[in-house]
Amino acid sequence: MALYQEQSLKLYNSMTGEKEVFTPINEGHIGMYVCGPTVYSNVHLGNCRTFISFDLVFRYLKHLGYKVRYVRNITDAGHLENDADSGEDRIAKKARLEQIEPMEVVQKYTVDFHNILQKFNNLPPSIEPTATGHIVEQIEIIKTILENGYAYEANGSVYFDVLKFNKDHAYGKLSGRAIEDMIANTRELTAQSDKRNPQDFALWKKAEPQHIMRWPSPWSDGFPGWHLECTVMSTKYLGEEFDIHGGGMDLKFPHHECEIAQGEAATGKSPVNYWLHANMLTLNGKKMAKSTGNFILPEQIFTGNNDILTKAFSPNVVRFFILQAHYRSILDFSSDALLGSEKGFNRLMEAYHSIVELPVSEKTGFNLAEWKQSCYDAMNDDFNSPILIAKLFDAVKTINNIREGSLQITEKDKKELKESMSSFMFDILGLVDVASENENDENKLAGTIDLLIQLRTEARNNKNFALSDQIRDQLQDLGIQLKDGKEGTTFSVK
Ligand code: AMP
Ligand code: ZN
Repeated sequence: MALYQEQSLKLYNSMTGEKEVFTPINEGHIGMYVCGPTVYSNVHLGNCRTFISFDLVFRYLKHLGYKVRYVRNITDAGHLENDADSGEDRIAKKARLEQIEPMEVVQKYTVDFHNILQKFNNLPPSIEPTATGHIVEQIEIIKTILENGYAYEANGSVYFDVLKFNKDHAYGKLSGRAIEDMIANTRELTAQSDKRNPQDFALWKKAEPQHIMRWPSPWSDGFPGWHLECTVMSTKYLGEEFDIHGGGMDLKFPHHECEIAQGEAATGKSPVNYWLHANMLTLNGKKMAKSTGNFILPEQIFTGNNDILTKAFSPNVVRFFILQAHYRSILDFSSDALLGSEKGFNRLMEAYHSIVELPVSEKTGFNLAEWKQSCYDAMNDDFNSPILIAKLFDAVKTINNIREGSLQITEKDKKELKESMSSFMFDILGLVDVASENENDENKLAGTIDLLIQLRTEARNNKNFALSDQIRDQLQDLGIQLKDGKEGTTFSVK
């Protein structure tokens, strides 16, 4: 029996505003799409928080035994400066400023993105498609939306007709905005706009002569609207209806609202069953954002190279800090908060590593199964990582009590406690057991040096002193000192 059949997972669906029991479309399989980054600059810690939040979701679903297809896109075209339909393409702008090709910008920041997420121990998604790799599919879906009567062409651009769509389907249901309020709150169209109504959004934009990122289409040489790529790539890889769609809270409107409208206009079906939105990381109480300069880069935290920090913090500690808040709560970044997380993280790790040394007894004096289920209950309750971490600290207390002799544990339960903690901390929360990784590296180094010592002894036995001296000298250059004694050769590392 798969674990998901024993555990009842509930998740908060932003569409209904309620925690719902999770039931996938195909038993045992899950399709999950998460909006990826626009690769025009280094990811800041705010972006990372969202991707770590969905890494937690991905890890837990996998842990429960589901076969998860996780699609996270790379936005490498179509995202204009102001999130709406005007301004320069963010990537093209950066390329112009740095005098490089747009695809060089894309390459540079995609590599940076992967690098940083790897440091945070995020698992890679199953598919990572790009907008520029799906221009043909985007053109095809625009044709379908036009045929279905929910879009119109104007001067080589194609716009989604929000008012027409709203008559047949509701527009605004995810963000809870009424179309009347949207109309009342939007400014008048400017004279040069081709839109029929200010609420309409671009599916295809005709490129101005200076716009270098352009593709041919039936309407003009141009580029797709920002919202379209996610509709196309999610449905291409997960189907017209799929289980989970995630992203940061700031993408609810207009991005996700437009995705729903595009999907429904093209297929008549509602594309997503569960909408998950991660809340923002703030700095000085304000949303961390590239555009305002109110941000910190992960690399600055790992090196301590930023005035707001009192010291450097490891990716593990930063990840722990992020997971100490529920993904739907706002989290404020500060050096003090990180210090607190570091202390907690170290305490947790120390306790975990001390389990092997605990004395064992005939009986276990606490309910291990109940504790384990309480950890699952936390995760089943909309991925409540702070509660899970509180349960792990309960285990720390238990471990301390056993060490002090006020509580007892059997050999078998000791093993199970260690395995459970490991599974919650490393597999599900995605923390890294640095101590045992270091220990592993040390073992590998010792094994390699032993091998070299053996080869040197053989060389000496064969009177190949040139080779034996070379091994000794080159090891010495690397800070590894060999000492010959009666019992054989030993080594020390500087
Ligand atoms: P972008 O590259 O701007 O499209 O953003 C990539 C992801 O980061 C999106 O899911 C955003 O919602 C998310 N994001 C941006 N700023 C923050 C923040 N301050 N806190 C958490 N997530 C954020
Ligand atoms: Zn998206």
